[in-house]
Amino acid sequence: MATDSATKWVYSFGDGKAEGRSSMRDLLGGKGANLAEMCNLGLPVPPGFTITTEVCTAYYENGKSYPPGLREQVAEALTAVGALTGKAFGDAGNPLLVSVRSGARASMPGMMDTVLNLGLNDETVEALAASSGDPRFAYDSYRRFITMYSNVVLGVEHHAFEEALEHYKDRKGVSLDTELGAEDWKTLVGTYKKIVRDEHGSDFPQKPEDQLWGAIGAVFDSWMIPRAKKYRELNAIPESWGTAVNVQAMVFGNMGDTSATGVAFTRNPSTGESALYGEFLINAQGEDVVAGIRTPQDITEKARVEAKSDKPSMETAMPESFAELTRIYGILEKHYRDMQDMEFTIESGKLWMLQTRSGKRTAKAALRIAVELAGEGLITREEAVGRVEPAALDQLLHPTIDPKAERKVIASGLPASPGAATGEIVFNSEAAEAARKAGRPCILVRIETSPEDIHGMHASEGILTTRGGMTSHAAVVARGMGKPCVSGVGSIRIDYKAGTLSVGAVTLKAGDMVTIDGSTGQVMQGRVEMVAPELSGDFATLMEWADGVRTMKVRANADTPTDARVAREFGAEGIGLCRTEHMFFEGDRIVAVREMILSDDAEGRRAALAKILPYQRQDFLALFTIMSGLPVTIRLLDPPLHEFLPHTDAEVTEVASSTGVSEDKLRHRMRELSEFNPMLGFRGCRLAIAFPEIAEMQARAIFEAAVEAAKKTGSPVTPEVMVPLVFTQAEFDIVKARIDAMAKAVSDETGSSVAYQVGTMIELPRAALKAGEIARTAEFFSFGTNDLTQTALGISRDDAGTFLGAYTQKGILAADPFVTIDQEGVGELVRIGIERGRAVRPNLKLGICGEHGGDPASVHFCQEVGLDYVSCSPYRVPIARLAAAQAALAGTSGGAHQSEG
Ligand code: PEP
Ligand code: MG
Repeated sequence: MATDSATKWVYSFGDGKAEGRSSMRDLLGGKGANLAEMCNLGLPVPPGFTITTEVCTAYYENGKSYPPGLREQVAEALTAVGALTGKAFGDAGNPLLVSVRSGARASMPGMMDTVLNLGLNDETVEALAASSGDPRFAYDSYRRFITMYSNVVLGVEHHAFEEALEHYKDRKGVSLDTELGAEDWKTLVGTYKKIVRDEHGSDFPQKPEDQLWGAIGAVFDSWMIPRAKKYRELNAIPESWGTAVNVQAMVFGNMGDTSATGVAFTRNPSTGESALYGEFLINAQGEDVVAGIRTPQDITEKARVEAKSDKPSMETAMPESFAELTRIYGILEKHYRDMQDMEFTIESGKLWMLQTRSGKRTAKAALRIAVELAGEGLITREEAVGRVEPAALDQLLHPTIDPKAERKVIASGLPASPGAATGEIVFNSEAAEAARKAGRPCILVRIETSPEDIHGMHASEGILTTRGGMTSHAAVVARGMGKPCVSGVGSIRIDYKAGTLSVGAVTLKAGDMVTIDGSTGQVMQGRVEMVAPELSGDFATLMEWADGVRTMKVRANADTPTDARVAREFGAEGIGLCRTEHMFFEGDRIVAVREMILSDDAEGRRAALAKILPYQRQDFLALFTIMSGLPVTIRLLDPPLHEFLPHTDAEVTEVASSTGVSEDKLRHRMRELSEFNPMLGFRGCRLAIAFPEIAEMQARAIFEAAVEAAKKTGSPVTPEVMVPLVFTQAEFDIVKARIDAMAKAVSDETGSSVAYQVGTMIELPRAALKAGEIARTAEFFSFGTNDLTQTALGISRDDAGTFLGAYTQKGILAADPFVTIDQEGVGELVRIGIERGRAVRPNLKLGICGEHGGDPASVHFCQEVGLDYVSCSPYRVPIARLAAAQAALAGTSGGAHQSEG
């Protein structure tokens, strides 16, 4: 970067004009750009200046030294501020005091925040006392300055000062700060200066200029402190952005009862209601509001009444300032065309604006605000669609605990899958199913879960485990099912034998009621009132607008009628993946499935398959009926085989007795089938190749169900039969031939033919590379990016948890590649697959059904590469619909915009 003294490093503002404006956010940071903009709008802003983010960059590039010209420009700007206020920085008779604040492009908690009252010293404090006529105020301000400055610039711990203050109050026999007078604060200032000398090793700086450069340096240094670095890492903020520094003339909210300070939102940030919302404190400085020592007062009278507060609202206590704030918030909201979060200070009856920015909000508020802003004509519908963060919708898609309900929290774990659930405690899957059959909602409580708990998880309302993290089996499967899950509640002890769980003094037994909140990780005793998720009101309106701009279709991964119904309610346009192996866990089928797998000849397998066929047909009929008129992709069996093998002796006995095969023989067969790497083993189409009768049974069930569904619903069904895990056209062709033959057979038998397609998953790197050949016979591709990620990176889906964290922490991977698609690597394979596939078959239908289909960033990628649809778990369908709409807008006009964080 050029760093000559001619470069403009400092941008001034004040008195109704500014050198900067809001579009200069990159250079001036969010706070600086908005201060400038407010000045340009003619709003009352204390004059000041912004040192640009480029100075921060230059500072680090040049071994923490300032670029030439900066000091001169700062001095000049400071003089100008003095001229506007009629004061001079460092002047003993009429001193200008300033605040120094950081201000990056994106708001960044963790960085140095604020130093107030800078410029005070033993001399200027007297001048402040004289000009304000209030020595108490002057010395209180001075001690606040020493505390803040020493803490953030010199690194002296807060508590050193707090202890001295408490000690002093004890000696005086008073309990409140307000009981201290000017002399007390003066004495304390002396004590504080001594603390600084002792702790810091040198005197508190008396020269205002040294104070100023100390504070500026502290802002720049705070850009690199671990907390700020961590925040950047988590929020993908580049280090190169740097921070700006804002220096601004002080206005005082603590100059008596006509002074105050506060924060306000132009709309309610939790409900979105269009009304000024916020709180303020009379006779206080900014940090008093956040410190929570005094309870702030409401801004509007309406809010005060609602909060049943007996302290006057700003509306009644300071009607003129309230009117001014009302005027200003109207201007700001119109100007920024978004809900604003503002900070203000009233000094002796005059209101000053210290900050404005787009306010953070809940998902519910975001929807209401976006829809209402569009209704008011402030933004377009497209902009409204861009204003809501898709991932935030997750908050609204699960039952949640009624905010008004009382909670008796007994333990906490990880918020593994959002939503809340109440039910009776069950400790195993059989009990879960029994409870379900009896119509009693239950919570499955396990130390950890494994694949054979799937049916129990299905049967329960929610899952609680005492071991395992956010990617444990319980967490992943629960998220897929859209069921609440709290995992890793280490403080709970489970005794399966006794049928109890205990934590501290509380012991609960099977059948007792418990509530879990998968959004917070809380475990509560007893039943707690819930509110159900709904896609209605503003949510439904915004979704409709999103659908209006979206070009990609959104389907759901759904294996059961329940999944399919939820998916349709949430707006799915078909099923993109039905994992038939999940159907095999339902009810009594597992025994027949085990029988089939463990038979050592085709005849035995056919006998077992004959038992499964009616169930499968029933399953498909239900799915086709629910999805009537929409496409349904059914994937042939793709089990990691070990998930189906019997585990316990009882299960072996069960299979033995139903097949008449000896247990010894069964165990021998189990040993034969056991694998070192089940994920790379006998799964996917390999099963259909070795045991074609399985694919035939499934194909028969599909086509028979399609014929029946068409009759039942009156509209034709077009099943898409999907072959998993192929890496070469030859595999695909073998399986396809069986499917086609079965279609013909069913058509001959029933006299009705079914239009269908046969396609494949692209989930192995070789399949992506050979897509041109595979597309000769495959009519559609669905990218299985779970396996594609696993095989492209050589990272096991099941074992990644232990080391992947280190990869994202060290920045080797930007995000968990199983959550957000690795665009550079896996994404390139997808691009290759698309290009080579479409070159051979221009109308090849393309979709994605890996977990990435519901991840907003990955949905953008899918739009970019030209997929026809994404498919995701039912509960993520609205998220994908919104993300797809934003991706479409970004592709056309760059219209998608996330509100500022
Ligand atoms: C995939 O691999 O992306 C996929 C959808 O299949 P599964 O997760 O069932 O292996
Ligand atoms: Mg797969």
